[in-house]
Amino acid sequence: MKIEIIEENIGEHKEEKWDTGTEVAGCWVCLGPGVETNEFYPEMRYCGPQHREMHQPEDHDEPWPFSVRQKEGVGRLLVAARDIEKGELIFTEQALACGPNHTLQADHCLDCMKPIEDKNRCSACGWPVCNTECESGPNHGIECSLLAENRSKIDVEELKEEGVLYWPISALRLLILAKSRPGDWSILQRMLGHR
Ligand SMILES: [Zn+2]
Ligand SMILES: [Zn+2]
Ligand SMILES: [Zn+2]
Repeated sequence: MKIEIIEENIGEHKEEKWDTGTEVAGCWVCLGPGVETNEFYPEMRYCGPQHREMHQPEDHDEPWPFSVRQKEGVGRLLVAARDIEKGELIFTEQALACGPNHTLQADHCLDCMKPIEDKNRCSACGWPVCNTECESGPNHGIECSLLAENRSKIDVEELKEEGVLYWPISALRLLILAKSRPGDWSILQRMLGHR
């Protein structure tokens, strides 16, 4: 994920006092015991080198310019830890999983996510894919066998008609992947619904 600030706050700079919640007691990523801290931002805690590096990559002289706090009913907050320049990159991270936009209506390939016009379906699970290469691609490969196992219970064309075909895919990928990765599973457990 890349977040860039592309517009400067125009007008008078007002010193507003935001309620930025409270410190996170454990590691900022997994909430495990935060045994290490950071000389720049002492309230940031890390369970070990892997989660420290997400905040301060090895080749960076200083951490990404934020600290993480928590607030009841909201969850975790990224709070600017210093003034941030216009256009400054403030964070990058690897996505846990990626998937098609859940609001898609027309057929899109579950692997490469390109639109498809020929109504091609995966021979194993029956969901839209471009061709045999995409059937066994790295994205669709995550959920294909589970969808195939349940093929008789899922009416793909009806879901498509109702406009909800793509709704479960990204969430399903996250659940399948995180189950075998305890660190990622604990992150999912702490995600809050936003309505
Ligand atoms: Zn951690
Ligand atoms: Zn494809
Ligand atoms: Zn499939």
